[in-house]
Amino acid sequence: MINQYKVLQIIRQIGNKINEHKDFLTELDNVIGDGDHGINMARGFAEVEKKFPTLEGKDIGTILKTVGMTLVSTVGGASGPLYGTAFMKAGAALTGKSEMDINDFLNVFQQAIEGVMQRGRSTTGEKTMLDAMVPAKEAIEKTLADTNDVKKAMEAGVAAAKEGVEYTKTIIAKKGRASYLGERSIGHQDPGATSFALILEVIASMV
Ligand code: ADP
Ligand code: MG
Repeated sequence: MINQYKVLQIIRQIGNKINEHKDFLTELDNVIGDGDHGINMARGFAEVEKKFPTLEGKDIGTILKTVGMTLVSTVGGASGPLYGTAFMKAGAALTGKSEMDINDFLNVFQQAIEGVMQRGRSTTGEKTMLDAMVPAKEAIEKTLADTNDVKKAMEAGVAAAKEGVEYTKTIIAKKGRASYLGERSIGHQDPGATSFALILEVIASMV
C-alpha cells in the first residue's frame, strides 16, 4: 500500500530525476524534434514542486489532478498536455483515496494510457511515449499475475518500458514533430518514451 505522503515523495523524486536527465532528454529531442523536451518536463515539474505546500495531507486524487493541471498549464510542448492528461485521468480514478495498492496503480495506469491516446489521437507503433507506457503496463500486469510479487512486477514494467524505448529507434514517427522527419526518424529513440521510462523507474524504486 502507498499512502498520500508516499505519493508526494514519489512526485518529488520524479521531478529530481527529470531534472538530472534534462539535458539528455533535450539532446534526444534535438535530433528528431525541436530540442525542448527536457526543458519542458523540467519546467513543468518545477512548477509542480511549487504546489507542494498546498498538497500536504491532500488525498491522492487531488495530488495527481493538481500535478496534471500544472503540467497542462505550464508546459508549452505536446508533452505537457499529454502527461498532464495522464496525471489528471489517474487522479480522477483516485478521488478521495488516501491509499492505493498495485491493482489501483494498474487501473490508473490504464486510465493514463487512454488519456494520452485520446488527447494525442495516437496509439502504439507511432514512436511516442505510448511505446513505453503500453508494454510496461502489460508487463506489470502479467508479472503480477504470474508471481504475485509487486517489486518483481514493477521491475518487469521498467524493463519493458526500456525495451519500448529501444523499439522506438526502429520505427518511423507518425505523431508529433518527429513525424515531419518521416524515414529519417528511424535510428533515433523517442524523447517522450525515454522520459516515461525514467518516471516509471522512479516509481518502481519507491514501492
Ligand atoms: P513538442 O513535440 O511539442 O516539442 P515535447 O518535445 O516536450 O513537445 O514532447 C515530445 C514528445 O511527446 C515525443 O517524444 C512523444 O513521445 C510525445 N508525443 C508527441 N505527440 C504525441 C501524440 N500525439 N501522442 C502521444 N505522444 C506524443
Ligand atoms: Mg519538443
